[in-house]
Amino acid sequence: MLKDQIKVLQEQIEQERQSITSKEELGAFWQKHLGKAGSIAELMKGMRDVPKEEKKTMGQVLNEFKGMVNERYEAMKKRVDELELEKRNQAEAVDITMPARIRPMGGLHPITITRNEMVNVFAGMGFDVFEGPETEDDDHNFTRLNVQKNHPARDMQDTFYLSPDMESILLRTHTSPGQIRVMDMKKPPIKVLVPGNVFRSDSDATHSPMFSQMEGLVVDKGITLCDLQGMLDQFVKEMFDENVRTRLRPSYFPFTEPSVEVDVSCFECGGKGCSLCKHTGWIEVLGGGVVHRQVLENCGIDSSVYSGFAFGIGIERIAMLKYGINNMSVLFKNDLRVLKQFQSL
Ligand SMILES: [Zn+2]
Repeated sequence: MLKDQIKVLQEQIEQERQSITSKEELGAFWQKHLGKAGSIAELMKGMRDVPKEEKKTMGQVLNEFKGMVNERYEAMKKRVDELELEKRNQAEAVDITMPARIRPMGGLHPITITRNEMVNVFAGMGFDVFEGPETEDDDHNFTRLNVQKNHPARDMQDTFYLSPDMESILLRTHTSPGQIRVMDMKKPPIKVLVPGNVFRSDSDATHSPMFSQMEGLVVDKGITLCDLQGMLDQFVKEMFDENVRTRLRPSYFPFTEPSVEVDVSCFECGGKGCSLCKHTGWIEVLGGGVVHRQVLENCGIDSSVYSGFAFGIGIERIAMLKYGINNMSVLFKNDLRVLKQFQSL
């Protein structure tokens, strides 16, 4: 009787175990057969009706059966764990062939690109970079640069004054006060660039109330105008074209003596004449000169021992020439259709 029951149960278990794939099903199987009220416990109860002489053998058979079911259970548990792990791995799998979500990328502004490029060229010649304040006092912006009060040169630059007296505190009109600040901090040899924003109350196609300049200053023993031209020659070759040449024209700035305007041979037409160079073959790019003795003395540098040159380059001017932009306001309007063209630079 009991033997037959075992046989039936064994067949039932063999069949059931085929379909068990989850922890829940496994739990139910345990409850049904191995639990306190399970089928095996039920069989154990049947032992009461087994005749005395068969009790020992039947007990053994029943125990072996229970051991076998336990083994089956352990084997199933192992398989279910593996299946669950596999399921989880599948659910968490990363599809590396899936196309990426493309986010819009920003780019550098053409003025920043040009400025960086200019700094790189001069850094290659050993220049340091100094950035002075945009708010200046009269002393740094004018007086110590040899532009005395009532000097007519003050009318050359339309100044934004910030102080009520309309003369002491102002927005710097050029990066040249950076020269004074550097010479106050450091004694020669000096080789420094001062890039930054400058401000003038001026606005038309080629002027903007705010624009950026890059000042260059070299002070050492025996510095001449030839050193300035040699260095600028190298600069324009690297910025524009290997075949570009420079030309100096006499000019006037209160802080340099002699002062020069620097032209480059037109890199568009090679000097034959075109609309970019207004058919002259030359393009004006910057101003500079030998630092005025008075400016050196104003900073406590002995002008009988040291000399220097300085130059100021309009960064927008270089960007306009380099990228063929004919209106300065294009550089300040930040029209995305324009800026996107510089994204890859
Ligand atoms: Zn030309």
